[in-house]
Amino acid sequence: MSSDEEHLPLYKELYDVVIPDLDYFIRQIDCRDGCPVNTDPRGYMIALHAGNLLEGYKIARGPNPFASICGVICGAPCESTCRRDRVDKTLTIRAQKRYLDEWFGFGREAHIRSLEMSYARGSVHPEPNGLKVACIGAGVASLTCAHDLLRLGYAVDVYEMMRVPGGMLTYGVPTYRLKNDIAFNEIHAIEYLGAKIYYNMKVGRDITLNELDEKYDAIFIGVGLWKSRDLPIPGADGPDIIRGIEYLRVRCAEEKWKIGDDLIVVGGGNVAFDVARTSRRNGASKVTMICLESRDEQTADEFEIEDGLEEGIVIQNRLAPIAVERDSDGKVCGMRVQRISTLFDHNGRFAPQMIPDTQFVIPCNTVALAIGQAMDTTFLNGWKKKDQLVIDRGIIKTERGTGRTSVPKVYSGGDAGFGAALFITAIRHGQEAARTIDTDLRGAKPYQEFAGEFTELSPIRDKTYLKTKWALPSMQPAAERVHNENMVENNYTDEEAHQQSVRCLQCHVSPVFDGALCIKCNGCVDVCPTNCLKLVPIEKLNLDYGEALMR
Ligand SMILES: Cc1cc2nc3c(=O)[nH]c(=O)nc-3n(C[C@H](O)[C@H](O)[C@H](O)COP(=O)(O)OP(=O)(O)OC[C@H]3O[C@@H](n4cnc5c(N)ncnc54)[C@H](O)[C@@H]3O)c2cc1C
Repeated sequence: MSSDEEHLPLYKELYDVVIPDLDYFIRQIDCRDGCPVNTDPRGYMIALHAGNLLEGYKIARGPNPFASICGVICGAPCESTCRRDRVDKTLTIRAQKRYLDEWFGFGREAHIRSLEMSYARGSVHPEPNGLKVACIGAGVASLTCAHDLLRLGYAVDVYEMMRVPGGMLTYGVPTYRLKNDIAFNEIHAIEYLGAKIYYNMKVGRDITLNELDEKYDAIFIGVGLWKSRDLPIPGADGPDIIRGIEYLRVRCAEEKWKIGDDLIVVGGGNVAFDVARTSRRNGASKVTMICLESRDEQTADEFEIEDGLEEGIVIQNRLAPIAVERDSDGKVCGMRVQRISTLFDHNGRFAPQMIPDTQFVIPCNTVALAIGQAMDTTFLNGWKKKDQLVIDRGIIKTERGTGRTSVPKVYSGGDAGFGAALFITAIRHGQEAARTIDTDLRGAKPYQEFAGEFTELSPIRDKTYLKTKWALPSMQPAAERVHNENMVENNYTDEEAHQQSVRCLQCHVSPVFDGALCIKCNGCVDVCPTNCLKLVPIEKLNLDYGEALMR
């Protein structure tokens, strides 16, 4: 025993006592905490387990007007925080949400009915408040902002440069992952609520921000990141070099982009996989991805990597692109690459270290770039206040939590305000901006996060909950799916969805000691596997602590 330990008291002087309230139990639900809009997967899994699918759907839909989209393609940060991961493998939260969504219906009628289930302030039939807001872009950030403001009685007009809404839902995510109709139907409900969307209206080209400034009380900028980043290496600036973001956009608009049969994709993230897998469906028999990162460092989701490998995509890690090689006619004939030893320095900064004398050429006839996104700043053209809007590192400088920009009454969010992220993050930004607009224009009180948003459900435990294995829904076989446009992942069957819901640990459940029954035998202390219990005399309790906290 060290001398320090010798002097430790057997008991602390006094043990602080806090009586847990509802908020405490809610905060134990890590999946809910992990979701940017605080969806409660634990709630809908208990409801699913109990066979109460309507209740489950309501819990899944409440925090978010794009619940159906999330069930299909959400990046699912809730799964990264799920505690079941510490036992064996995380819950299949996204897939169970899709099951509930499909049960309720993906059609227009269903989405219109779902408007009543929103947790957002206000109602489906609010009194008009006489204030008008313009949203630029019909992506999820703008449309969520519109949804929340419409419920408060605002009139909302959305200006969209394309001919259909959805932003990256429609023009980025390939249709083998998400059918456009799922997005269109969900957006139709927001139009039904009162959003007026003006299509083929590019702000900065067909209308200026000056005109919007004059006509509206507030403006939300949700223009996303609609350009691909360039790669500054020789040969990579020709018109025959495919830009990932633009390529996917054309593909989703059902037009064909000519590619060769032997393609190299530069990049290793999710968008690079969308480009690579789309190209397999678009006729490329050989697709090679070259990434700076090692397999472990790749930012793409694990399922994207696995699905891509199954579809025959070859991944070459730790390679830096050096030059696009062209033949005597100027046609692409290969990619010169060099091996790298490390990507980051000891401070975690991006600093690729080239290995000398390791250059070589990988033959190919098409090169696609998927190394990041950039903002198209056309929307600023002709605006008198253009110089007042601070653009920082390629995105609009936007205050976290409020969406305010450097120009009063101008707000931003989604990818344009905070950089490329997930749909669900952009949805949160839309909600935050709507709340701030309401505060700034009408002095509304800040939003109470938990008010009315938590469904208390009795725990329900099936004996198999620890034994049941993680399982995603079935998928189309790889050999078939590269030849069609059907969604790769199927929905759960009733039985599968029920089985998976049983795995939920129901983290809001905590042991509560009933003083009338406890015989102070110390048995619980003896058997507690994590030694987190202790019996102490009552005089060792600091009963004032909780009260002090409340003051
Ligand atoms: C290829 C790809 C796949 C993705 N897959 C997923 C996924 O599976 N899961 C996930 O969670 N996230 C995914 N993401 C991320 C997600 O798409 C974005 O985070 C999200 O779309 C951001 O929403 P937003 O509303 O900010 O912008 P966007 O969805 O990009 O919408 C911006 C809108 O603004 C419009 N616009 C732009 N400029 C103007 C202008 N001047 N005037 C009028 N309108 C204009 C555009 O046409 C567009 O409709 C993916 C992203 C990409 C690029």
